[in-house]
Amino acid sequence: MKCFFDDNDACGVCRFCGRAACKAHLAGRLPYIATIYVGAANTPKAVVVPDALWCGECKPEAQPVPMPEIY
Ligand SMILES: [Zn+2]
Ligand SMILES: [Zn+2]
Repeated sequence: MKCFFDDNDACGVCRFCGRAACKAHLAGRLPYIATIYVGAANTPKAVVVPDALWCGECKPEAQPVPMPEIY
């Protein structure tokens, strides 16, 4: 698999947009919210990956975005 941005071999995949990228382009690390669930006493909890691979190009939102138009 090749890097999305150039012709180098990809070494990983951006966790946020899914694009494959080489080491130069996967320089970023961002916390990634893997899942959110409601725990005891109705407290929302998030499982966070603190250093997920990031291509540096896409713009992940820190919080889940409400999408009322899909309803
Ligand atoms: Zn990305
Ligand atoms: Zn690259």
